[in-house]
Amino acid sequence: MTSILWATGFTHDYGWLKVDALDASGKPRHQRGVSSEPGVYFLGLPYQSRRGSSFIWGVWHDAKFVADHIAKQRLYLAYRAPAAAE
Ligand SMILES: Cc1cc2nc3c(=O)[nH]c(=O)nc-3n(C[C@H](O)[C@H](O)[C@H](O)COP(=O)(O)OP(=O)(O)OC[C@H]3O[C@@H](n4cnc5c(N)ncnc54)[C@H](O)[C@@H]3O)c2cc1C
Repeated sequence: MTSILWATGFTHDYGWLKVDALDASGKPRHQRGVSSEPGVYFLGLPYQSRRGSSFIWGVWHDAKFVADHIAKQRLYLAYRAPAAAE
């Protein structure tokens, strides 16, 4: 699995992000950092879930939420239904 982490901070220019994850005004379309586009996540956005979301001192709440979400998705993807009994 390949991961790309773009750490572009406060620069609100997503012109380089070639996925369907932005709304009509060009802002990330997401719920608590989980994008509408599978595999795309946002962190550090203003008021992503709370005032501290865009601060070093506070971003970890959202980081944990996104990391937990990714871990769950990986479990779902790895799941293989047991073979049916004959
Ligand atoms: C005025 C101000 C005061 C703050 N005070 C506090 C505070 O007291 N406590 C606190 O916890 N947090 C504070 N913050 C928030 C804190 O600065 C950020 O949470 C933190 O810097 C985010 O780190 P980052 O690495 O994600 O982004 P940044 O530190 O913003 O780094 C992003 C880097 O990516 C570069 N970049 C952007 N786009 C591109 C591109 N297309 N190509 C190449 N490079 C690119 C930028 O030039 C920049 O160097 C403050 C922010 C501001 C603006």
